[in-house]
Amino acid sequence: MKSSFICLHCGGTFLCNPHVKDQQYCNDTACRQARRRAWKLKSYRTNKSCRQRCLNHQKTWRKQRPVHEYQREYRESHPEYVKRNREMQQERNRKRQKVSGSMIVNRNTLSTQSSDSGTYALMQIINGKIVNRNTCTVRLQVLSGEEMILAQNSVRL
Ligand SMILES: [Zn+2]
Repeated sequence: MKSSFICLHCGGTFLCNPHVKDQQYCNDTACRQARRRAWKLKSYRTNKSCRQRCLNHQKTWRKQRPVHEYQREYRESHPEYVKRNREMQQERNRKRQKVSGSMIVNRNTLSTQSSDSGTYALMQIINGKIVNRNTCTVRLQVLSGEEMILAQNSVRL
């Protein structure tokens, strides 16, 4: 019988306790917690009823604390997270605008009558949803006759 063992958690060498069979962890609090975690994980993986109990417990817990409520509480208690997240989303939107802003997605969305000159607000819509609330205003001038020929020669797409 061996007289000492190496703790699997802290790596220290300890004398074997004669009352414990195949000792693998020392008596330190962190090491005992590690042993318990390892035992629980092994039970979860190998024992079907243990796994089912654990999953049922998680399901019950999740019903009592829906994700959206948890997220709302987290946002309320972590304003720095909300601020950082908002800044990062604005950055992502800016990058997306650079990519999609350079190409015309649909040319058939605007049809004008001769009296439709005026100022319009443009906003990006993807899959029927307004993607960015920041709007761009454009001034449309309906041209006719000679004006249109001059305008066509000056427009470069
Ligand atoms: Zn240890």
